[in-house]
Amino acid sequence: MKKISLLIPLYNEEDSLPLLYNELLKVINDIKNYEFEIFFVDDGSKDKSLNILREMQEKDSRINYISFSRNFGKETAMIAGFDYVSGDAVVILDADLQDPPELIPEMIYYWEQGYDDVYAKRKSREGETWLKKLTSRIFYRMLQKTTKIEIQEDTGDFRLLDKRTLQSLKMIREKQRYTKGMFSWIGYNKKEIMFDRKPRAAGETKWNYFKLTNLALEGLTSFTTFPLKIASIFGFIVSLFSIIYMIVILIKSLLWKDPVQGYPSMMVTILFIGGVQLVCLGIIGEYVGRIFNETKQRPLYIVSEHNGEKINDGGVM
Ligand code: UDP
Ligand code: MG
Repeated sequence: MKKISLLIPLYNEEDSLPLLYNELLKVINDIKNYEFEIFFVDDGSKDKSLNILREMQEKDSRINYISFSRNFGKETAMIAGFDYVSGDAVVILDADLQDPPELIPEMIYYWEQGYDDVYAKRKSREGETWLKKLTSRIFYRMLQKTTKIEIQEDTGDFRLLDKRTLQSLKMIREKQRYTKGMFSWIGYNKKEIMFDRKPRAAGETKWNYFKLTNLALEGLTSFTTFPLKIASIFGFIVSLFSIIYMIVILIKSLLWKDPVQGYPSMMVTILFIGGVQLVCLGIIGEYVGRIFNETKQRPLYIVSEHNGEKINDGGVM
């Protein structure tokens, strides 16, 4: 019998967990011919989530979990999950029921048709502010324009992945992870299905604008080196204009003996170029920072508990 792992990263979800478990049971009890594993990755929750997981795992043999020694973030929780799950396919779900488990049978259907990555695309982004919609749109445009890999818009981590797809993802051991881009980067046969994303079942979102901006920067700098080129392009344009302007000034002062003038224009130019240089330095800094983080060779995560057993696993391949 084929086995399907449901992978659920969670951070402080004590209110959602019981609801989620009920919903999952409803769905998987209806699906015959498949074995299921429900795999939770507790991302260092500070509430009672871990206790709930311990109890659930003792009662239900289909449930497995690992727990991080601290909060590492959802991206890291996912790769840890990839390392641990045992299914022939894995479905990644959020713990807050925003990704409806009712879609799982459809995903399995397409998987059996030979697709390796069945991802769910949001039909609408209801309940989100226009600012969030606009910024996300701009971000996707920018990312898409600067990279050759096709990045799916309005798609999250909610998807079914075949085992071999997982194997490929496990080989990507970057520290600063942008998993959405990796799903595209690895390729394979992809199938899109549509769904309505619901509001959170309980609790609050852990994303704020600061974190989202960071993730966007992560996405850009981990997927394209285009921003680095901006400095060169801009430098080239400015040099060109400078040369023309230099000739103009030379001719003016030689032929017309123009008296010294131009404090305002000089000031503006200096400030402008100075500002641009700082921005370019910042862009370079982003990449240098990434190099620094990757060269430290630290483990991606630290697992401190596995199915009730105290362990220490850094997930080093
Ligand atoms: N999550 C996590 N680690 C974190 C933050 C979030 O594992 O540091 C989990 C969270 O419990 C949920 C999923 O990632 O299952 C999505 O988080 P959230 O609902 O806060 O994000 P949103 O749906 O608003 O994008
Ligand atoms: Mg959510």
